Amino acid sequence: MRPTSTPCRVSASLLMFHGSRLGVMKLEHKVAIVTGASSGIGRATALLFAREGAKAVVTARRRAELDDLVDQIEQAGGTAVAVDGDVRDEGLAKTLVDTAVDRFGGLDIAFNNAGVVGEQMPTHELSLTDWHNILDVNLTAAFLGVKYQVPAMLSRGAGSILITSSFVGYTVGMPGMAAYAAAKAGTIGLTKALAAEHGAAAIRVNAILPGGTDTPASITNAPDATPETLAFVEGMHAVKRLATPEEIAQSALYLASDASSFVTGTALLVDGGVSINRT
Ligand code: NAP
Repeated sequence: MRPTSTPCRVSASLLMFHGSRLGVMKLEHKVAIVTGASSGIGRATALLFAREGAKAVVTARRRAELDDLVDQIEQAGGTAVAVDGDVRDEGLAKTLVDTAVDRFGGLDIAFNNAGVVGEQMPTHELSLTDWHNILDVNLTAAFLGVKYQVPAMLSRGAGSILITSSFVGYTVGMPGMAAYAAAKAGTIGLTKALAAEHGAAAIRVNAILPGGTDTPASITNAPDATPETLAFVEGMHAVKRLATPEEIAQSALYLASDASSFVTGTALLVDGGVSINRT
């Protein structure tokens, strides 16, 4: 009698092979906006979202960097469109959502990530202009973004909104960073209010709080940074190193995808233990 078990085992393993190659894209059929996509965390997240099947609308001010990102996504078989502009401009917030709807049929995910640290100085020396600028980019831009993202998601029947906050202003007070801290703490209040407003409509809203991350924005990459600066910042973290942008992107993927379907209104620390470290 011929054995019957071997062909079955072969089929099962073939199925698993094809399943792992083809069936596990976490954002298949999703449309995502990513702000601050020309660099750092936003760029890494746009690449990851596209690799996981999302069609991406990517934005920042630097056009050449966005075009390069779109090329990279398309060469890998993904889909993306670039819209350059300033996140302080309400018109850009509308254009991004219109682009997602017109080009890709709707909006499922919005990663409101653009940010700027600003010059560090004692708070009493900070000009009102600089204060407003830092709040505008880090906090008001997220408000402008969700103002247009929420209606599109209400039409879609669901959505996931992410806002990049920081441990600065939430778990750690840092000298010379008052405006940035106030803005990033503000994003957490905004996140919680939105999550409460729209949970019943299946729109989840969460904040990501990266620890020190190796991007151009990190003080460890400032022109005047020294090896001692890097050692100090790394030492603040329990893990004694900075994050890569890709590590933060993985958390954005978790919050954007259905893997976090019961998670809303959170301030997710992805901070290498900078918030709990005392050594
Ligand atoms: P980054 O590499 O400097 O990226 C910042 C992004 O924001 C760039 O794409 C920049 O693009 C965009 N941006 C800045 N101002 C803008 C404006 N007015 N209009 C439009 N886009 C603007 O820094 P990153 O570290 O990836 O920062 C991403 C987010 O993470 C920020 O919200 C930051 O505060 C937060 N974060 C960073 C760290 C860290 O250690 N790196 C830690 C905690 C939180 P253009 O210059 O092309 O406009």
